[in-house]
Amino acid sequence: MKIQSIRGMNDILPDDSAKWQYVEHHLAEILSSYGYREIRFPILEQSELFNRTIGSVTDIIEKEMYSFYDRNGDNLSLRPEGTAGCVRASIQNGLLHNQSQRLWYIGPMFRHERPQKGRLRQFHQLGAEAFGLAGPDIDAEILIMTARFWRRLGIESTIKLQINTLGELEDRVRYRSELVSFLNDHRDLLDDDSRRRLSSNPMRILDSKNPSVQSLLSDAPELTDYLGDSSRDHFDQVSSLLDSANIDYQTNPRLVRGLDYYSRTVFEWVTDSLGAQGTVCGGGRFDRLVEQVGGKACQGIGFSIGLERLLLLLDEESAFPDSIRNNLDVYIVAVGNVITEASAIAEELRTACSHLKIERHCGGGTFKAQLKKADKSGARLALILGEDECASQTLGIKYLREKRDQETIDQSRLIEIINNIFG
Ligand code: ATP
Ligand code: MG
Repeated sequence: MKIQSIRGMNDILPDDSAKWQYVEHHLAEILSSYGYREIRFPILEQSELFNRTIGSVTDIIEKEMYSFYDRNGDNLSLRPEGTAGCVRASIQNGLLHNQSQRLWYIGPMFRHERPQKGRLRQFHQLGAEAFGLAGPDIDAEILIMTARFWRRLGIESTIKLQINTLGELEDRVRYRSELVSFLNDHRDLLDDDSRRRLSSNPMRILDSKNPSVQSLLSDAPELTDYLGDSSRDHFDQVSSLLDSANIDYQTNPRLVRGLDYYSRTVFEWVTDSLGAQGTVCGGGRFDRLVEQVGGKACQGIGFSIGLERLLLLLDEESAFPDSIRNNLDVYIVAVGNVITEASAIAEELRTACSHLKIERHCGGGTFKAQLKKADKSGARLALILGEDECASQTLGIKYLREKRDQETIDQSRLIEIINNIFG
């Protein structure tokens, strides 16, 4: 029996990895241009880290974590998201001592969800967190930076920003009890999921996709009316900074996000092009999280991008440039007893033209068979070396993608000619 991968955990094959590299390259370059530096932390952590931060009545903790006891009896979990590990690592390594930090990370996350388009069990996030900055300037800067991501990738017209403020913990506690009493009066109109959440995590009901629940909510109390002055002021300033930067957004008073640690500013970048899995990027402010993990109080704000969804969106919008296809540039055909010479030429070319992708034919075979392979490889050129060329210190150049006659050149001019062709 063949061994198969785990459901919802996909292989990324060479034809697709060029797309990943393209996206990663551009996002990393933009992050760096805003002063963010990459941090790498483990995929496996103590389960306690996630239980304490994400919130015990969230979907992730209730039913999505991959947790197990290792050989020492320690309770460990595969990370379901990046913020908790990033905060843990930053505290443990003293990065938050009286200083601000701008950090980013990328890597696989694990959640036991029902696999479907844009929803996997191993998926990838690129995230960033800024620590030690109270905002609202950093809140706006993060949103301006994410807007730049979409512009750079050419998808700015299909992705829209929604923002909200969750206020302070005290605001939410007051609001929550009002919301619960309103919803309790209309229990019969709630679905099972919402009824379950009424006692565990009532604010998540605001997020319900069920149209009848949504229509009930239009009469429900709104969090906005329970905000303290400083939260309201913070939010107004974020909004006006976005206005000044010409960033389009929609204020969505029902945007709550699925994790417990958020306060004040929260946001999502959403698209209509991916069906139900439309949130490509989500984030917000988490001013109490560092303390929750055991550090000294330190503000934080961050976001994470679901990279599978982002790539799906780029595919949907035909936004990948043709140039990212991972084709070879040069295929070296070596016929007869010329292995030493062919290898020397290939090495010389790789040294002089390090940006080119060069494959030297290995394993022998006839001229015809090797040329067929050269053509299939997608390379632009075949360099042809046989025993005659070796003797005369020449090489054949065959243009595989252009109507152009085969040429014979002196080996001494190879690098000059290749540089001319590839610019
Ligand atoms: P959703 O509402 O789709 O369940 P979420 O609120 O659980 O998302 P976050 O925990 O905020 O998502 O994670 C940030 C981003 O990571 C999401 O906006 C999404 O793009 C991506 N993401 C989350 N879960 C998955 C998954 N199971 N598969 C693929 N991408 C995911
Ligand atoms: Mg989810």
